[in-house]
Amino acid sequence: MSYCSKCGVSLSATEAVCPLCGKRIYTRPVNTPRAYPLTCEAVPLSSSRTALMGLIILLFPALCCFAVDILEDRFISWVMYIWGGEACFYTYVFLPKLFNKPKTSLLILASSIVTSGYLFLIGFLSGSGQWVLPLGVPVTFMSGVMTFAIYRIINIKKASQLLKSAVIILSAGLFAMAVELVIDMYLYGAPTFGWTLPVLLPLVCISAAMFYLEYDSELKKRLLRTVF
Ligand SMILES: [Zn+2]
Repeated sequence: MSYCSKCGVSLSATEAVCPLCGKRIYTRPVNTPRAYPLTCEAVPLSSSRTALMGLIILLFPALCCFAVDILEDRFISWVMYIWGGEACFYTYVFLPKLFNKPKTSLLILASSIVTSGYLFLIGFLSGSGQWVLPLGVPVTFMSGVMTFAIYRIINIKKASQLLKSAVIILSAGLFAMAVELVIDMYLYGAPTFGWTLPVLLPLVCISAAMFYLEYDSELKKRLLRTVF
């Protein structure tokens, strides 16, 4: 069914002129391809342009804070914290846009390096940077490794959700333990494993139960039937 473009009356397929208002009707012959596509395809902003936009957006607060800092103190003081934070943010969010299909491992490595650099800067500016190398940097890199491990586990195609969750829960417990080891070495020079044991034990139990369920499909089905 077609309609007159002037008065809107419905028209039969054979009409060449609108019977109501007399407007000439132009009909598209059947089987001719459309001059325009039915749907519009949105052209995304190119990735490198997004990265450039990010730089411009971050440059604005960086320069404003610099101006305020200089006017206030006559020298650069707290604005370095802002710059460091912005450098981290740029690395986390916009740097990946500069590359075509960047490797996750390299992105996490770059983020860990920049975060460590920021910690060094904070240590330097606050005049108490003894904690950065023995504490801040190892925890940052360990977090990077943990993030990468979770990313890899989630992307394993053959494993079930239950199995992946079990591995992630177990690794979270081990990660907490490793963090405590670094803190203990920094504070006391020897491992104490005080607060991680109450964290690790329940996680190991939950993870073990999930592993068991994964391999006992009968029990898994029965449990699902009982719960849902
Ligand atoms: Zn008409």
